[in-house]
Amino acid sequence: MHTCGFGDLSSQLEALRDIDMYRSRRQVASRQGRELTIDGRLLLNFCSNDYLGLAGDPRLAEAFKSGVDRWGTGAGASHLICGHTEAHHALEESLAAFTGRERALLYSSGYAANVGVINALLTVGDQVFEDRLNHASLLDGGWISRADFHWYRHNDTHDLADRLTTVDGVRQRVLVVSDGTFSMDGDQCELEGLVELCAAQSSWLMVDDAHGMGVHGKDGTGTVDPARFTSADVPILIGTLGKAFGTAGAFVAGDEVLIETLIQRSRNYIYTTAIPAAIACATSRSLEIVKNEQWRRDHLKSLIRRFRNGASHLPFELMPSESPIQPLVVGDPASTLAVSRHLEAVGCLCTAIRPPTVPEGTSRLRITFTAAHTESDVDRLLEALRGAVAHNVSVSK
Ligand SMILES: *Cc1c(COP(=O)(O)O)cnc(C)c1O
Repeated sequence: MHTCGFGDLSSQLEALRDIDMYRSRRQVASRQGRELTIDGRLLLNFCSNDYLGLAGDPRLAEAFKSGVDRWGTGAGASHLICGHTEAHHALEESLAAFTGRERALLYSSGYAANVGVINALLTVGDQVFEDRLNHASLLDGGWISRADFHWYRHNDTHDLADRLTTVDGVRQRVLVVSDGTFSMDGDQCELEGLVELCAAQSSWLMVDDAHGMGVHGKDGTGTVDPARFTSADVPILIGTLGKAFGTAGAFVAGDEVLIETLIQRSRNYIYTTAIPAAIACATSRSLEIVKNEQWRRDHLKSLIRRFRNGASHLPFELMPSESPIQPLVVGDPASTLAVSRHLEAVGCLCTAIRPPTVPEGTSRLRITFTAAHTESDVDRLLEALRGAVAHNVSVSK
């Protein structure tokens, strides 16, 4: 019998194992929340992006269920064919109002939105400038567009300014792209500096606020406060719905001309099935909760403060993050895995993050907090980390 051996793929997989870079999935046996059941054990969950604790909220489940009763399960087609329901449209209008933009456009994921937007706006001969620590989907969008790709140093507007002077912003389209809140470090972009620079250089600014929206700012509007930064300042704003909003999908917010261009030209929008209308129903409900339940953000802030106070006494490098993303950089993949396993043994789930998701030498525990955590949950995590240090689970500062 002929079998396909896939050439050297097996040996490449083995090589990944040898350097502790092999990734595998865990099967979760419970709904998202502050605790997860995995392998029959109940673990405190410190690695989700469910920042406001809404992914398992019964009110969203209720809205989702009535959405299914009303609209069925599948959208049936792409938005441009016959998949764009009144439920999708109503959500787009609410998201536009929330972000202070003329229009918003739903995508099936943040990954799809980022690649789809950059690719629709840029082509050969255009220029894209990206922060060193931007999310993979923003990088992929830049590469796929075939524009000339430029890095700039993380959050360094001087470096960006130097690099921008090399391009001709009149004859070429120039797009500057940044995470709003950086996904692996938890710090926020230098928004004011970026806005100023892009205005001076006639460049377009695109901010992906996947981790900021819902979490930061007045009513959870995120890193890009609509009262301060209009669409003239940040013409392309991305939000995702699978994190603080607790559902799925993503959206682009901006002027009419941007959104209409995407509808005509964005391949990731045109050639894909619309998200189920019931997801839009659940997200509309979620948006109300995000705006109205300020206590979730306040509680989250106090948990973060408590953690940072406690963790400052541990031999880990704390990052300058005010967000629920509180990474502890361990260094090499093997030690990071060791700490992660120790935490799990004592009941705390925090997955190790290794290259290429983060730069070489900065493997880390990407600890995240949600509004569902309690103060004693934070204390339990700190105790577990102290235990890891005491047991001499390899740690470098
Ligand atoms: C998670 C994330 C995305 C991808 O969003 P999905 O909806 O999960 O595909 C995009 N950008 C950033 C910065 C992210 O962290």
